[in-house]
Amino acid sequence: MSEASILVVEDEPSIREVVTLYLERAGYRVRSVEDGTHAKQILKKDPPDLVVLDLMLPGIDGYEITNWLRSKSDVPIIMLTARREERDRIAGLELGADDYIVKPFSPQELVSRVRAVLRRTMGGLQEKREQPIVFDDLSIDPARRQVIVRGVEKQLTAKEFDMLWLFANHPLQVFTRGHLLDRVWGISDYIDPGTVTVHVRRIREKIEADPSNPRHIITVWGVGYRFEP
Ligand code: CA
Repeated sequence: MSEASILVVEDEPSIREVVTLYLERAGYRVRSVEDGTHAKQILKKDPPDLVVLDLMLPGIDGYEITNWLRSKSDVPIIMLTARREERDRIAGLELGADDYIVKPFSPQELVSRVRAVLRRTMGGLQEKREQPIVFDDLSIDPARRQVIVRGVEKQLTAKEFDMLWLFANHPLQVFTRGHLLDRVWGISDYIDPGTVTVHVRRIREKIEADPSNPRHIITVWGVGYRFEP
């Protein structure tokens, strides 16, 4: 596998340097910028395989960049945040970040997160071509990572796609939030279960005719979720 390219967006020079250094040592091709304007230029011209994005930036902040990026691309985003409040982290995930890490963090932990996210997104492309799963109103093509709902292609983030693919491959099986964290994130210790709830809601909004009365992803109260084909 050729080395993955990573864009680091961080206005604090010391953090930017340390993150860049560790990611380069881990074998990634790294570009770093200090603000959202430069980030957008790179994202338009030569998109990376993953973005490490500081939430609090001067000018265009991390939320705004995520929002803008998600309207056009599913490149994985790991957010750096100094905020400990759950609502801020959830807001980032709502906008489509794939993961977040709270400052202060160890650079090695960030490298592990990057590796885990890339293993899922890039590893998925290298696996043998799997056949699409087709239901009457929904088709999921793992090779192209494409989801078609009632004839319309929907943009899912990497995590949303992985979760939907997992559900669709295990119809009627009940998954707890812990299972889903293990299978989709693979690092259940670091992520809080609210993350699963957010992702399920976003998938429902994309695939269900009536997200408040879902047909495919059913809540099993007090346990988790199951997929109805
Ligand atoms: Ca900052």
